[in-house]
Amino acid sequence: MKNIELPRKVIVGEGAIHSIKEICNELNLKNPLIFSGNFTKKFADIICGEIKGEVVSPDKEISKNKNFGFVCGVGGGSTIDKAKIYAFNNKLLFISIPTAASHDGIASPYASVRGGVSVKTNSPLAVIADTKIISDAPKNLTASGFGDAISNFTAVLDWKLARDEKNEYFGDYAASLSNMSAEIVMQNSKKIFSDISILVEALLSSSVAMAIAGSSRPASGSEHLFSHAIDTLSEKYKFKRALHGEQCGVGTIISAYLHEIYSHKNKGGWKKIKEALKDVGAPTNAYELGITRKHIIEALKFAPKVRDRWTIFNKFNIEEDAEKILEGCEVIE
Ligand SMILES: [Zn+2]
Repeated sequence: MKNIELPRKVIVGEGAIHSIKEICNELNLKNPLIFSGNFTKKFADIICGEIKGEVVSPDKEISKNKNFGFVCGVGGGSTIDKAKIYAFNNKLLFISIPTAASHDGIASPYASVRGGVSVKTNSPLAVIADTKIISDAPKNLTASGFGDAISNFTAVLDWKLARDEKNEYFGDYAASLSNMSAEIVMQNSKKIFSDISILVEALLSSSVAMAIAGSSRPASGSEHLFSHAIDTLSEKYKFKRALHGEQCGVGTIISAYLHEIYSHKNKGGWKKIKEALKDVGAPTNAYELGITRKHIIEALKFAPKVRDRWTIFNKFNIEEDAEKILEGCEVIE
């Protein structure tokens, strides 16, 4: 039996943040706990001005004896994720208010935890995506969201591979929806900054695809394993990792390159992905990610071991050929 949970309200547009009061009245929500990072506190304060609530930093201890009615997450990727997890653990409803289009967790039932891999929570009850706020966000956050959207290409190819070889459940509708998000942002790579709604809608659709599939499969394949591997190594060796979607974007180049070698289909697809990432100023190689040659080779070797997920990595001897693969798709020289 499938149990699909989707957001009930999705508000996208300039000034959408001011719809919070109306939404809370409509859904009968009161007394929110509002998670916000330092840079996004001014937006949390706007929310607080419209509906009374308590603003907290996601890294602080939260008072247990207050009866909060629901949770709002106001911020970029990690604030939304932490708020989502807190809401889930405390059986509270959750409203997602992204201030950047930096990843596809803005409306999905999945949240990333430290160390990389995602955990299943609930879908937000409502999503408020204010395109004015989101288009004013730092450019690298938008470029990161673009990388996360484009990663759906290889996630879907990996999912098909798992269907064919491991008899894994595959949902045509979720896969098509996810693929279409990547297709649309790729076709509009030169317009992303002038019309942010293209990317916001792609990330929302990508979230919905995960909710429909009941797994992160439509939007997370080998390219995500690679990103998670970098996260793990960055903790081990204490280097600064790049943004989630930036890492996934480079991972998508690698995975598309491997899929092409394996299937002899979609010739030059990885180069088109690379060009599109360049159009938005996203990193396309180890140097631009700020990761050393040694660390990126180790990350690729580690990627297939991050979790038990059948992907294109299983069709290659990654341990042996990591360096050659990275050179082949120009991620290292
Ligand atoms: Zn992602």
